[in-house]
Amino acid sequence: MDTTATPTHCPYCALQCGMNVTPLPQGGVAVTERPDFPVNRGALCGKGRTAAEVLSPAVRLTSPLVRSGGRLVPASWEEALDRIAGALGSVRERYGADALGVFGGGGLTNEKAYALGKFARVVLGTSQIDYNGRFCMSSAAAAGTRAFGLDRGLPFPLEDVPRTGCVILVGSNLAETMPPSLRFFSELRANGGTLIVVDPRRTRTAEQADLHLAPRPGTDLALALGLLHLVVAEGRTDEEFIRERTTGWAEARAAVMGHWPEYVERITGVSVPQLREAVRLFCAPESAMVLTARGPEQQSKGTDTVSAWINLCLATGRAGRPLSGYGCLTGQGNGQGGREHGQKADQLPGYRKLDDPAARRHVAGVWGVDPDTLPGPGRSAYELLDALGGDVRALLLMGSNPVVSAPRAAHVEERLASLDFLAVCDVVRSETAELADVVLPVTQWAEETGTTTSLEGRVLLRRRAVAAPPGVRSDLEVLRALAARLGVEKGFPADPEEVFEELRRASAGGPADYSGITYRRLAEEDGLFWPCPARPATDDDGPAGSGGRAGDGGSTGNDGCTGNDGSTANGGPAGNGGPAPAASPAHAEHPTQAEHATRAGPLAHPGTPRLFLDRFATGDGRARFVAVAHRAGAEEPDAEYPLLLTTGRVVAQYQSGAQTRRVPELNAAAPGPFVELHPRLAARLGAAEGDPVAVVSRRGRAVAPARITAGIRPDTVFMPFHWPGEGRANTLTNPALDPVSRMPEFKACAVRVEALGPG
Ligand code: SF4
Repeated sequence: MDTTATPTHCPYCALQCGMNVTPLPQGGVAVTERPDFPVNRGALCGKGRTAAEVLSPAVRLTSPLVRSGGRLVPASWEEALDRIAGALGSVRERYGADALGVFGGGGLTNEKAYALGKFARVVLGTSQIDYNGRFCMSSAAAAGTRAFGLDRGLPFPLEDVPRTGCVILVGSNLAETMPPSLRFFSELRANGGTLIVVDPRRTRTAEQADLHLAPRPGTDLALALGLLHLVVAEGRTDEEFIRERTTGWAEARAAVMGHWPEYVERITGVSVPQLREAVRLFCAPESAMVLTARGPEQQSKGTDTVSAWINLCLATGRAGRPLSGYGCLTGQGNGQGGREHGQKADQLPGYRKLDDPAARRHVAGVWGVDPDTLPGPGRSAYELLDALGGDVRALLLMGSNPVVSAPRAAHVEERLASLDFLAVCDVVRSETAELADVVLPVTQWAEETGTTTSLEGRVLLRRRAVAAPPGVRSDLEVLRALAARLGVEKGFPADPEEVFEELRRASAGGPADYSGITYRRLAEEDGLFWPCPARPATDDDGPAGSGGRAGDGGSTGNDGCTGNDGSTANGGPAGNGGPAPAASPAHAEHPTQAEHATRAGPLAHPGTPRLFLDRFATGDGRARFVAVAHRAGAEEPDAEYPLLLTTGRVVAQYQSGAQTRRVPELNAAAPGPFVELHPRLAARLGAAEGDPVAVVSRRGRAVAPARITAGIRPDTVFMPFHWPGEGRANTLTNPALDPVSRMPEFKACAVRVEALGPG
């Protein structure tokens, strides 16, 4: 047995911590520290440390299952694949291609996301594909694109955080979601910088802040507008930056003038002195950042909310400059790459738009099909789930568990159950798999090679470190086998590197250009930031780690999202291809620019860690202000539902909990849901610590023990969403959608709480 340590990355969140995976002589696998990876420097949270446990055949699927006599029973791969292909084919014949739905996941590798999007459009011919990343960072992506012309979660590496002057962290509880990332913020404060945390709860992250602002859930938009109002009123705008590098300021400025501090205090509950202090801290240093996560984004006005925070950055000259800017902390492991390669309803690989004729021609050329045969944009994730059993009759689902993670989850569960046919590819027997007609057991992180793209836009190589158990196949093998059964014999290789080579060509010239990235470079350089076109570096690229230009072009049962609570090339392979080495040294140093030139060749593009330093990725190179105004949430409290529910995460569980609930250590640390109540609210209800309480919204009822804390607003209750059953938080959440991003309103809905007596 080869017991060499293989350097790879965590299967869970978008921090993509580096780790070593080593098969043990006595059986099993060890996950150990990998100090050379610069993001986590060896640190792992409990989820990463215990990730090997989900590889165990004791907790995972190892045989296909088919429904027979109302039960899921083991079956051969041939039978399972035949049943899926037969059902998809007959539904298409009877109802048309758009009666077939495909639902992907932000945990799928880039190769899988790419192949799934191609499978939907080329093999099935359906427009009905979207993925659970829609529930993650879609509002930030939409706002970033309309302001900067390009969405890359963070336009700078995390290593810049300690060197900026101030960070406003909006709706992100990194202490629970990405603990190793906290060191960047501790170092920021140690260097004299300040941290402002915006969160309705006094989270463990907020505890570390210099200033904690606790707005009512759903009022982050008003808060940002109020801060910008004060910036203008106090003469703190950067007029030269606004003049030279932006458009649309007059309208955006006019839109904030009515947002007087006292008015904003009434909406948000954040006091005027706190608003003034936040502006002082943000504007005093030379550089500053705003980082958002799910808190402001998972709202029916999420896109406008993020735009308001971006406007604050632009008006103060804190964007497109070193150590300054706006960034989104993407949550799922491949939340960033998952939205770039074609599993999103409106996009093609390379982050191209599906309704752009030139993009369609380019991708169709790579795929060898007529562009006119490619379907147009389809429904967004919730709209697709809502259509199941209606005009969408069959669904292929890969790497997602919407029974737990989707909003209005009981309704989504009913829709899934009403399908003519449901096929699920997963590692474990998730709650969604329980509803399936066929379940396929697929390989997972350490059992397969593939790439992910971290929240920094750093493309990483996850390496195969252990053999998968017998009976398990990769998602790529599944797509190849289904394509062949549906009459498409070519174009779906099962080898991930072969898929990545095609992805490079498909992305070439697009906003997310990967054409200069190869497995070999990823192994040798331990990650490359896109855009990385397949062309020589030029003076425009600057030294590694400086600016560079953005292009102008215009699995596993996880879900929802983590993170937080709150060029052109002409296709064809670059000159750096070739097979990946078996494994690179476990503790390879990160290359310097000189080393990079030696390893990758002097003409290779170095990648782009920092975006927008010279120009933004818009047509005129200027960032665009977007004029936005405060508006109420989709559902405000009233006499029947007088409180606001907000949902989020705990450190020991990940997303829908499909994997982490199967790890004893994690399950012991966080065995079930709870309802956070302020002591005054608890007293009024007559609920004591640990007593069961029912939380009731217009969509249903969830029951969980009370957890009483002064760290939450008295008008707000909080539930983590990792569990199914009677404590399922998403039974309650509101699927009201943002008009731009189609993000549901996970973060604020009206509820009442009923005490159920001592537990
Ligand atoms: Fe790192 Fe996230 Fe994995 Fe924890 S879950 S070890 S923070 S990548």
